[in-house]
Amino acid sequence: MATQQDQVFELIKQEQKRQSEGLELIPSENYVSENVLKAMGSVLTNKYSEGYPGKRYYGGNENVDKIENLAIERAKKLFHADHANVQPHSGANANEAVYFAWCKPGDTILAMSLPAGGHLTHGSPVTRSAKIYNFVGYGVTEDGDIDYDDLEKLALEHKPKLILVGYSAFMKVPDFDRVKAVADKLTAETGEEVLLMADMAHVAGLIAGGVHPNPLEHGFQVMTSTTHKTLRGPRGGIIVSMGKVGNPLKKCERTLENIPTLIDRAVFPGTQGGPLEHVIAAKAVAFEEDLQPEFHSYAAQIVKNAKVLAEELQTLGFKLQGNGTENHLLLVDIKDSFGIDGKFYETALDKVGLTLNANALPTDKGGAFRPSGVRLGTPAMTTRGLGEEEMKTLAKWMKRVAEACAEAGDEAGLETKNEELGQIREEVRALALRFPIPGIPADAR
Ligand SMILES: *Cc1c(COP(=O)(O)O)cnc(C)c1O
Repeated sequence: MATQQDQVFELIKQEQKRQSEGLELIPSENYVSENVLKAMGSVLTNKYSEGYPGKRYYGGNENVDKIENLAIERAKKLFHADHANVQPHSGANANEAVYFAWCKPGDTILAMSLPAGGHLTHGSPVTRSAKIYNFVGYGVTEDGDIDYDDLEKLALEHKPKLILVGYSAFMKVPDFDRVKAVADKLTAETGEEVLLMADMAHVAGLIAGGVHPNPLEHGFQVMTSTTHKTLRGPRGGIIVSMGKVGNPLKKCERTLENIPTLIDRAVFPGTQGGPLEHVIAAKAVAFEEDLQPEFHSYAAQIVKNAKVLAEELQTLGFKLQGNGTENHLLLVDIKDSFGIDGKFYETALDKVGLTLNANALPTDKGGAFRPSGVRLGTPAMTTRGLGEEEMKTLAKWMKRVAEACAEAGDEAGLETKNEELGQIREEVRALALRFPIPGIPADAR
């Protein structure tokens, strides 16, 4: 076929090779199944479906309606929710829709600050949300847990309409009950309802897999997530919530009870146009996979691998934020451990086929461009079948690369370490090729 000649397909092949021959340590990435890929690459991309199942602004949606309903029902089952909106194009869109559903311009939202481990979409000044709403940030304690006393003090002082628990670099399990108690106290004082929102973009798969508490079962009313991280689905977002499910085409009062309907209206027409039904189909396929007993084993193994990796790294002299991990994430203070900065270490690891990202630490002096830390995690490696033994091997490679960096001094000096890095590259490739990636044809590996 003529389109197969497009150089894009050659580049996709090269990307398949890159993914196959290296190890993915980025904690927000994963590998989807062949069925998820198939659904995404289907003719559903041809269809316009503005609206919701049974309530569309276009004809010809009889199949799409059934598919979207499957995605909704499976998502509800996965998170024991009253309602699911599967249309957000991304995690960022999901968050934006929830803010828009509940808050008026100028309202206050209390969320974890970015340096503490929060996400850009939780009020970073560069985002649109931050120009519309008044974000106040809470921090973490020295041992890496949420500073709940700080959170309570800020809540009673600033009287937020919405309290958000969510993060991209936080290694503890949040105490949702404690935050719920703060919201109740605030409501008792002001007489106003406070929306409790959890952004579980990183740990949603651990929740689905039964190895992490579900915020919806601890008094939170809304949970947002990406679908492509630990949930192992297509790139996209989702919002699940508790409350009365109403007609999304009808205006309703801004009350906590009406949250599901307010959210539907905030996604469409509030912040998005036509849904990506090929992606929604892939979400439905992934959610069905997530409901299987094997997914529970997978989630448990992610955490086990992360714990083994953390212990092994600590034994080898790496200092970890929060002294380890309770989930799939690790944040290494590489500056304090080996005197090198995060970006330098990231570049060197790239050369040996280990992909992760430099990340600022809660008390970082290096700033966003030269952060002192690197963030890594185990979801993608665990999907490929790597276990505790491989985590120990990985820790040793990471140590060798760190030492090479320390001796080289800077990126230019790394030239002198080409032989050692080349040797590690071959070892990484050999191991990676023993653990094939789902969905990639054997001849493309
Ligand atoms: C990844 C992430 C998001 C954003 O998801 P995108 O799909 O990249 O928009 C939002 N919140 C948290 C906590 C995340 O980790």
